[in-house]
Amino acid sequence: MDSSGKGGLLEQKVSVPKPEFQLSFLTKLQRLFAEGDFTATYKFALLIAICDIAVQSGNDSNEPLVIQHRSLGSKFIELYWQQAAPFNDGVLVQNLGAQATVVSKIARFRLTNGSLNEALCSSTLLTAITATVVAQPVKYLQNLSGTTDEFLFERRNGQIVLLPGVAYCLRRFQPLVNRLARSQWVNHIKNNRQNAVLVGKNNDLEAFLFQTSRRSLEQVAAGLRKISNKCFYCGSKLTDADVDHFLPHSMYPRDLTHNFVLADPSCNRSKSDALAAKNHLFRWLDFIDRHDEKLTEIGMNAGVPVNKNGSLSIARWGYSSGVVSGAYAWVRSKVFEKIKVDYLENWDST
Ligand SMILES: [Zn+2]
Repeated sequence: MDSSGKGGLLEQKVSVPKPEFQLSFLTKLQRLFAEGDFTATYKFALLIAICDIAVQSGNDSNEPLVIQHRSLGSKFIELYWQQAAPFNDGVLVQNLGAQATVVSKIARFRLTNGSLNEALCSSTLLTAITATVVAQPVKYLQNLSGTTDEFLFERRNGQIVLLPGVAYCLRRFQPLVNRLARSQWVNHIKNNRQNAVLVGKNNDLEAFLFQTSRRSLEQVAAGLRKISNKCFYCGSKLTDADVDHFLPHSMYPRDLTHNFVLADPSCNRSKSDALAAKNHLFRWLDFIDRHDEKLTEIGMNAGVPVNKNGSLSIARWGYSSGVVSGAYAWVRSKVFEKIKVDYLENWDST
């Protein structure tokens, strides 16, 4: 199996799931959200986790995809890390009964001053979180109205296997699945009476749950400025600098250090949710190659996940989706160009 996230689009005669399969996949997913039993927020996290992994490690074919339980455990640590920090005066409860085990374990780790990157390297924490993930959401996600319908994955010893066509659909519908899972996750926390006082009238709950904290972003910005004090896109000298998601956050809403570049506010605003044009893309590929070590250090210090190859696979997925959907890429203010297959060439220098 191709684990690099490459292939698919440029290869001919790749077999992909039939339209009927894709429709039935979406219908079942819709049923899962409507009829699934969500006593804790774990199932939303599991859906986002397998979607992330399909984007990073899958390809655009009909192939099944093996996911190790420990990879799911790592994703849970990433997803719940920020959420296990105090919101207002306490940690939000993520279960209708006692606090969700994953949250209390991560919250305890945070208190011992561990950083996210230390948490991801702690095999004790990873083993404990993985055990909960396997015993709960992995076991129950596909239970709908009292029956089990294994339409997403088979459970095996130490791993799950996404069924043929599932990774393809998750890659194709990633923004949709992510948005649904996130909005229901936020509602779950809001509607949990135990959180009434903490949530109060605060409107920034979703940002708190899913976005990199302002403090971390400031650390990233300071680190990136040391590499270059110029706008990544137009090259002008920076006074105010925005931290821009090279692959738009709207397309892939998880932060990775290598996906951050500095832009002046006007380029950042103008690019908005668009993919960047080919000249920017090739510059970015070169940038993360040349500054890999520095970027890794910046991420470690700021507590933002670091994964160069993951960032590359995700970008490749994003641009492949752009080619398939006929999207336009941002060149500069008000100038766009159509994304073509040649965007995906010459990525293999690394
Ligand atoms: Zn600029």
